[in-house]
Amino acid sequence: MLEVKYDINHTKDILLMFDQLSNPFSSISSEHLRFKTFDEIGILIRPRLVDIECRLNYRMKAGRVIFEPKVFQMSFVPLRYVLKTMLQDCNLFEVIIEFMNRLESNSNKCVSNNKLGAIYTSLPCLPPEYSSSLENIFLACLFKSVNRQEFGNRAIFSELVSELNFLEVTGIDILYDGEIKFFFSLVLILVDNLGLHSILGFSESFMANFSCRFCKSNKSDCNHQLVQIDENLRNEVNYTTAIAINNLSLTGIKELCIFYEIQSFHVTKNYAVDIMHDILEGVCKPPLISNDSLKHGSIKMSASETLCFIKYLTLIVGELVPLNSEF
Ligand SMILES: [Zn+2]
Repeated sequence: MLEVKYDINHTKDILLMFDQLSNPFSSISSEHLRFKTFDEIGILIRPRLVDIECRLNYRMKAGRVIFEPKVFQMSFVPLRYVLKTMLQDCNLFEVIIEFMNRLESNSNKCVSNNKLGAIYTSLPCLPPEYSSSLENIFLACLFKSVNRQEFGNRAIFSELVSELNFLEVTGIDILYDGEIKFFFSLVLILVDNLGLHSILGFSESFMANFSCRFCKSNKSDCNHQLVQIDENLRNEVNYTTAIAINNLSLTGIKELCIFYEIQSFHVTKNYAVDIMHDILEGVCKPPLISNDSLKHGSIKMSASETLCFIKYLTLIVGELVPLNSEF
């Protein structure tokens, strides 16, 4: 049988507990008590009054003008204490660090995940007024850039390659005054420098020793070369040799071009250049024309501004160049 003992002290404690629970906010029932309590536990940051300006105001008293000083004030809450309390006492510092890390990794993911690669096709045999029209430029492939980086060019472009091969070898029948068979050839892959190097299998770093898709000149030669060195040009023979060497740093070739499988196309004959990066944002450095530019050593210009500038520079300074000058 369970024996129950009554202790007078326990009864008092229990009664006191009930009393406190029945009115838990009695110690902070007034504003004065609340401020006092928050002050004591150190979480009250009181605003302080700051003088803005002191002026003499006048008023009439018994027919006489009396000037009285008037101080204009404002309340100021010191942010140093607010931030310190928030970061330190509310343990928000860790939360912020975690959140920032998450944001950073998510934003990186976001950028790479949303970057798309697109391949469009157009027919160069159309007259310019037709070929430049958007309705005559057709989307062939649309893929996530991150997928190309991860799975490689073969995985992305093999379908396009077999389609182009079909168009070239089998062809399509067109009804035009009877049935006509049309065959198509891939004549040019036109992308910017980095895009071309990526999808054609050349070095993707333009700081590499062999970074040119047209020739085998090394970095030092490329930096000083003013005229084309014919024996350095890439061709079908030396391309095959370079592929056999299979060494990016010795050849500038990362992998066999996937478009190699198209009979009429050879990557060394893909004479597509990138005027924006090569000329307008590349070798066409604008001259120094203002004090500010002199201070910074260069003028920043967009590709279209540079295009405009180099077009008209000859008209601006042409008369100052002697007629017999080689320039
Ligand atoms: Zn070159």
